[in-house]
Amino acid sequence: MIQYGHQDVTRADIDAVVQVLYSDLLTQGPQVPIFEKKIGTCVGANHVIAVNSATSALHIACLALGLGGGDFLWTSPITFVASSNCGLFCGAQVDFVDIDPKTNNLCPIALENKLIEAKSLGRLPKIIVPVHFAGRPCDMRAIRQLSEEYGFYIIEDASHAIGSHYLGKPVGSCNYSDITIFSFHPVKIITTGEGGAALTNCPNLAEKMNILRSHGITRDRALMNNPAEEGAWYYEQIALGFNYRMTDLQAALGSSQIERLEIYIRRRQEIAKYYQDHLIDLPLILPQMCVDSAYHLYVVCVDPVKTNKTRAEIFNSMRALDIGVNVHYIPVHLQPYYSNLGFKRGDFPVAEEYYARAISIPIFPSMTDSQIETVVDAIQFAFEG
Ligand SMILES: *Cc1c(COP(=O)(O)O)cnc(C)c1O
Repeated sequence: MIQYGHQDVTRADIDAVVQVLYSDLLTQGPQVPIFEKKIGTCVGANHVIAVNSATSALHIACLALGLGGGDFLWTSPITFVASSNCGLFCGAQVDFVDIDPKTNNLCPIALENKLIEAKSLGRLPKIIVPVHFAGRPCDMRAIRQLSEEYGFYIIEDASHAIGSHYLGKPVGSCNYSDITIFSFHPVKIITTGEGGAALTNCPNLAEKMNILRSHGITRDRALMNNPAEEGAWYYEQIALGFNYRMTDLQAALGSSQIERLEIYIRRRQEIAKYYQDHLIDLPLILPQMCVDSAYHLYVVCVDPVKTNKTRAEIFNSMRALDIGVNVHYIPVHLQPYYSNLGFKRGDFPVAEEYYARAISIPIFPSMTDSQIETVVDAIQFAFEG
């Protein structure tokens, strides 16, 4: 089976992790700050908080921005459930903004229209979470402009987009947002097994997230209520935090992986270009090429104007041919948990239309040329069969 995504683990990665296993500190050692520094240098962010998942990063990002009961968080319906669950963790209400069918990202025009309506109802969002779907950056300039007009914070969910660029700057530099989060799950661009990070240029937000990832505890006297010397053992819990820490084993793997980020992105872009050139004559809607995308995913949509075949037929044929196709994503508002909150079919029609046709085909840096050809042949066969 050729999976839709797969990690690449080298001898150097394995050696880096083994070295930590032989060291004194498996967690809370030197590897996490080293990895954080590497990420910060790579994408141009001042502060990096490495955590045990992107889900944790989203949670502490929302808390650091003060999200709570009575607040609203908006995101795209075409994302993984974690992008919106983070709002619910904080007791806020969640809503969605429909996508732009050309980019499959949150549509800035739909956003503006929804903001105008929300303003008149006194229900403006506190946080917007734009998701750089498949690695293609959102229209951050437009979203940032709206944030200045309507006063919301921005958390970029860049789980798909370490290695992507926006207007000449790496995604993660937070030029258009308060916080950016990355995921290092094995299916993403680089991996730490499980893991994530929250990035910001704001020292105050960085300090809050740093404390929240480790129980709300600080050893920094400047932050203590009773900084008078009690002894070297002394620490204070000053907030209600979690154990969201990344281990040194994970960080060592991440530091080794990030060395190959550029090579990975180049290969992903090469594969995307190959698909673009070789799938063009099939009844598919292909993603618009984007030189700035990290191509975490390559999603084709079955074109209803050009074929009677359904998405399910093409999907099943490809699975039968041992191609590990997938679907990203079932619109979040259609999940039963969200239906129970009052969302229903028809709420976000562009997202639902996209979902009815989408198939993610394999793309990952260690794919061989012959595997890429096999995928193209399988799609052709699926339409002919
Ligand atoms: C993978 C993913 C997440 C969650 O990442 P974890 O590291 O698995 O918690 C969040 N948002 C998006 C868009 C993702 O793809």
